[in-house]
Amino acid sequence: MKHRVVVIGAGFAGLQTVLGLKGADCQITLIDQRNHHLFQPLLYQVATTLLATSDIAWPIRALLHDRDDVTTLLGTVEGVDRTAREVVLRSGTRVPFDTLVIATGARHAYFGKDAWEADAPGLKTLEDATTIRRRMLLAFERAELTEDEAERQALLTFTVIGAGPTGVELVGILAELAHRILPREFRHIDTRKARILLIEAGPRILPAFSDELSGYAKAALEKSGVEVMTGHPVTECTWDGITVAGQIIPARTTIWAAGVQASRAKDWLAAEGDRAGRVMVGDDLTVPGDPNIFVLGDTAHVISDGKPVPGVAPAAKQQGVYAARTIVARLRGQPKPAPFRYRHMGNLATIGRNAAVIEYGRFKMRGWLAWWVWGIAHIYFLIGARSRLFVSLSWLWVFLSGQNSARLITQKETLKETEREK
Ligand SMILES: Cc1cc2nc3c(=O)[nH]c(=O)nc-3n(C[C@H](O)[C@H](O)[C@H](O)COP(=O)(O)OP(=O)(O)OC[C@H]3O[C@@H](n4cnc5c(N)ncnc54)[C@H](O)[C@@H]3O)c2cc1C
Repeated sequence: MKHRVVVIGAGFAGLQTVLGLKGADCQITLIDQRNHHLFQPLLYQVATTLLATSDIAWPIRALLHDRDDVTTLLGTVEGVDRTAREVVLRSGTRVPFDTLVIATGARHAYFGKDAWEADAPGLKTLEDATTIRRRMLLAFERAELTEDEAERQALLTFTVIGAGPTGVELVGILAELAHRILPREFRHIDTRKARILLIEAGPRILPAFSDELSGYAKAALEKSGVEVMTGHPVTECTWDGITVAGQIIPARTTIWAAGVQASRAKDWLAAEGDRAGRVMVGDDLTVPGDPNIFVLGDTAHVISDGKPVPGVAPAAKQQGVYAARTIVARLRGQPKPAPFRYRHMGNLATIGRNAAVIEYGRFKMRGWLAWWVWGIAHIYFLIGARSRLFVSLSWLWVFLSGQNSARLITQKETLKETEREK
């Protein structure tokens, strides 16, 4: 029987592992709870109506159609039986493995306030993006209908909690939508009066960037009409609004971009984890004492050059490449590769449609040229010619026409939203 490799998660790390195992003498099973691989860095553009869902996600089966050595399973993993060497799915199915690769990513962290999730959705999946898009667009529609001035103002107030790249990117496009694209389409409201707030508990926005670029991003956002509040954590969050710095801000749309927590892999393995729930792995990305179990990407706590590796896509991909190389070396009886080393590819974030900030060591770039570099890098990392063409054309269309084309209100209303509509 061939060596059985089971990979859980078809995100950046898991998919890269499978791609790296091409031609290896093993049988691979790839399990994911969704049927698609998702390019999370552009999720905010789906949420803010710039791109359609199919522009940034691809069916896993289609991606691997020419790989006879790979079986793809749609299922949610709920545990790992380390003694029996089996992965346990929610359906009860057990999938045996000789080598296991866990790359199940991260989810939102509400820092103990899990009840906030319903009123302040985070952005992690396509469903999250379309939920945010629906709530945002519905808020404008309801503001157009209502006769109640206070309600209208609450509907036209949008708060984003957390000012890392995702929060900054969301408010940047939201401001353009409200202040430049929508005004000519509504008759009873002036969407330019929409209040867009970016709230950050820390002292400044984009904390991973230098003071200089963080200051530039703040000034650029304020120029586009975003209110930036730093140094104040949100203390309450409900359907009606948020409380920050002792002030109640009525707002019908709140988006959470403040924190992530690793998937539950630590519990499945009964392994040691860090504060974010990531599994502590060795410099070969395996769980201490179990060299046949790898944990990668956002779910792993990896140290490289004395520092924890950040939870970003290039790090996850590099770990996938490394895990595949290690498995191939073992199968061929070759010496194991040198310890994993992370190569940092720089920090990037966009501010609206015309500016970005990029930092790579001492190299810094900002403004429209940085936006183009950011855009080319993202187009390059998309999968397949179709997506590259469609995303490039969508951006070109938005640039030339000033119209965001993916402004569809879809999905079933949640109970709370329906109640509000009555
Ligand atoms: C909104 C957003 C914007 C981002 N922007 C950037 C950016 O600009 N640049 C950058 O470098 N990084 C960015 N990131 C971070 C980057 O996307 C992650 O670091 C990267 O996706 C991690 O890869 P991964 O393979 O560890 O996990 P993921 O890509 O999250 O993949 C995990 C996979 O595991 C599956 N899974 C999870 N649990 C289970 C289960 N129990 N059973 C079966 N399957 C399961 C999921 O469905 C998913 O397919 C962003 C993230 C988000 C959310």
